[in-house]
Amino acid sequence: MSDLSSTLQSIILDLDGTLYVNEGVSHEIEQVACELVASGRGLSTAQGCRILRSTRAMLTEELGSEPALSLVCAELGIELPEFHQALQDRVRPERYLNNDTALQHLLGSLAERYRLFVYSNNNYPLVQKILALLGVEHLFSRLYTIEFCWRPKPDSEALEQVLNDIGGPPESFLFVGDRQHIDLLPPAQRGIATLLVRQVADLLQIHKLLGLLH
Ligand SMILES: [Mg+2]
Repeated sequence: MSDLSSTLQSIILDLDGTLYVNEGVSHEIEQVACELVASGRGLSTAQGCRILRSTRAMLTEELGSEPALSLVCAELGIELPEFHQALQDRVRPERYLNNDTALQHLLGSLAERYRLFVYSNNNYPLVQKILALLGVEHLFSRLYTIEFCWRPKPDSEALEQVLNDIGGPPESFLFVGDRQHIDLLPPAQRGIATLLVRQVADLLQIHKLLGLLH
């Protein structure tokens, strides 16, 4: 890890929970899933939420870690395109997110030296909208969203396609995310450097890792 700064070319960042942390947006995303579960079964949204939560708990037990929301929805018979269309129609990040100058500085200094990418289970229209609200959309070379191959993280085939598309050896990548099993385990299994973050300020760890702090 110590010589990562000499081999690194591409930093691949998760979006939700990594480049911003916001209760309002995550609640709206969860609510959309609850509403789809409910409407498919003729239930109230509250009942839909209970089913979603118990299914998530069951899968967490089975898998040994909390699954991505896409996987919980798939388990409940909600197709990915249907889920993402509903997210696009109903989630309003503009209610919660603003220009983030700290994030702009953190990512801006990295973008001077490395290529930055987003790799997210979220869909392209929402990812683009969120990045624009935060004021960082111009800093990324490419956005890998659910539309790229419709295989939510963690997925080794999708990861392979992302890595091939970016190009470069394992030591040229750094993956950054807020969920170990979903964002970081598959690249780590390929010997790729990873960094777990819990809040936006943790992104400063990237600069420390690369020796960019004086
Ligand atoms: Mg995340």
